[in-house]
Amino acid sequence: MLGSKEITVYEEVNVFFDRAAERLGLEDGVREMLRRPWRELQVSVPIRTDEGDIKVYTGYRVQHNGARGPYKGGVRYHPLADQEEVRALASLMTWKNALVDIPFGGAKGGIQCDPRTMSEGELNRLTRRYTLQIEHLLGVNRDIPAPDLGTNSQTMAWMMDTYGQVHGYTPGVVTGKPVELGGSVGRDSATGRGAVYVLREAAKDLGISPDGARIVVQGFGQVGSWTVRLLGEMGCKVIGVSDVDGGIYNPNGIDVNALVQHKESCRTVSTFPNGDRVTNEELLELDCEFLVPAAIDKVIHRDNAPKVRARVVVEAANHPLTPEADEILNAAGVTVIPDILANAGGVIVSYFEWTQNFYQHQWDMERVNDELNKIMTRAYIAVKEKAASERITLREAAFLIGVGRVAKVAKMRGFI
Ligand code: NAD
Repeated sequence: MLGSKEITVYEEVNVFFDRAAERLGLEDGVREMLRRPWRELQVSVPIRTDEGDIKVYTGYRVQHNGARGPYKGGVRYHPLADQEEVRALASLMTWKNALVDIPFGGAKGGIQCDPRTMSEGELNRLTRRYTLQIEHLLGVNRDIPAPDLGTNSQTMAWMMDTYGQVHGYTPGVVTGKPVELGGSVGRDSATGRGAVYVLREAAKDLGISPDGARIVVQGFGQVGSWTVRLLGEMGCKVIGVSDVDGGIYNPNGIDVNALVQHKESCRTVSTFPNGDRVTNEELLELDCEFLVPAAIDKVIHRDNAPKVRARVVVEAANHPLTPEADEILNAAGVTVIPDILANAGGVIVSYFEWTQNFYQHQWDMERVNDELNKIMTRAYIAVKEKAASERITLREAAFLIGVGRVAKVAKMRGFI
């Protein structure tokens, strides 16, 4: 068991990195080079509010590692986004992109703000100012942002427009754009769809029939809502869902289509009438086959991990488990499908979008989903086989593959 001293989220992510580096036998200097972000930028983002005041936000862009290609990673708008968190998420992007073998390095951005309390005009001004502050780091062959927590395709349209005002029309500088502006079909559902593909593969291996399997999903945004919809289509029984306002539980299964409609009209799932209201804490402790955290970081920690009653945890969110929670669940025999595998579908379809932008062409939905399925399934099998051959967890195997690939390429390029 890890010591009980509180460590930062970046240090937590590096617990997993260090284990992989140790197993790979990387020399100390190489470890240090891979652990540290290559470049970090903190910026002030002043905007005029609708009331006419000036408010100054803090924004970040961290480029963690560019050995395998241009930096790639989302931009998060959240009250808790800070340097440490963005740094941690940037490093996860490095290992994720390497694991699924797409030609990107890892990055992440963020602004500490609460987008739920801001108007569309304020968010537009905030995004434009932030883009101008980090524009010199970006580029279609340098660093390519995408949506994350609290941002969406509209945010990417504003970023693309602002970048284009300086550099000329460059749709490939961001991904997750609206389809009309060069986005890829299937990008909005891609992270949820990818999570569902690996869940399907894990279910096969564990002998769990998806038909009627009980599912609990925390978070009903871009990732969670698609995960719920697609699992519903697969015949799973979604028994619990939540968002920031709370959750609902129905052991007989929630009518997914009615839930989606309720969310559209009421903007929350927590008031859905056909179920009992539960808190987010209670939701994570529901008895189920698959628990899918799809909201924020560190929701399962040493205090609530012993109460998790799922057979499998699918990390659709980034870093939803602390390393201590991870150890507790592993010891209890719970299968954990790690974030760098489970939520890679988003960046994979972002990669498809980036390539489509190069030759100004649009793939159809069938091609996008087919290629996504191939890459997710291939990555899942590679992780499963590595875990079996090395007698380690799926997370350890995923990091081993990702870190190993980045270390190899860094050596080949000759800068170390
Ligand atoms: P989003 O902003 O679209 O949705 C977030 C959801 O989480 C909302 O339903 C919100 O109400 C809920 N939420 C927020 N705070 C919560 C809390 N304290 N407790 C419970 N629920 C809470 O964000 P998203 O894009 O769906 O991202 C969700 C997670 O998935 C994040 O960890 C993100 O990094 C990860 N992720 C997203 C993508 C992507 O393509 N968008 C790709 C990979 C990973």
